[in-house]
Amino acid sequence: MSVPVATMDGMTTPKYPLTELSDAVAPARERHRRLIDSAAAWSASHGRHTDPDHFALVCAGAENAWRPPDQTLTRWTRTGTHHVVRCDIPNWCSMNSTLWPASICEVLWDWFDFLHATGRLDSRSDPVAELRKPLACYGWLDQDGRRLPQGAERQIPCECFLPYRETAELLGEIVLRCERSGEEPLDVLRRAAGHAPVPRWSPAGDDGADLFGELDPGGWSDGW
Ligand SMILES: [Zn+2]
Repeated sequence: MSVPVATMDGMTTPKYPLTELSDAVAPARERHRRLIDSAAAWSASHGRHTDPDHFALVCAGAENAWRPPDQTLTRWTRTGTHHVVRCDIPNWCSMNSTLWPASICEVLWDWFDFLHATGRLDSRSDPVAELRKPLACYGWLDQDGRRLPQGAERQIPCECFLPYRETAELLGEIVLRCERSGEEPLDVLRRAAGHAPVPRWSPAGDDGADLFGELDPGGWSDGW
């Protein structure tokens, strides 16, 4: 189906053929009808009324994702979420000559809430709070999944490219090693990022000796 395209002067001209989103996602909606209908009913019961075709687009994008083993309709990671919303859905729309809704990040927020609330989110997924982060960052959403006003600052630092589980495990290792060495974990990270360590706070009257540093004068065994 050809869709009129709005031009700069406000005229609508069939510049190039586009497919209506509802037509483009029809096969995905049929393939996953039960899941999508459940999501739409859940969304409506919570006052959100997300369009089922938009949920179908999420399904199509997830099916088209870059790492199929890690990415299914119900299994999501923080980095996978970012990739689906930033690349896989736009790519799928380009291949199918259709346009994605501006609210696609809000749609994904709703999708995750539905999966989580109804026990459908695969337990191998990252925590829901982590899945929301790339939506808030890339989609400029607030902590309730609503679009921030024009010109508002992003509310969280970007973690879109950091795999949640491996990053958390590495940070945990650093903390454990710092417990043994007495070093401040953040100083390890600051040094890795090329920043100078932050001077330690000393109690009044202290002569400035690094009490924690004296606990393990050997420090890191591998040159940290
Ligand atoms: Zn980001």
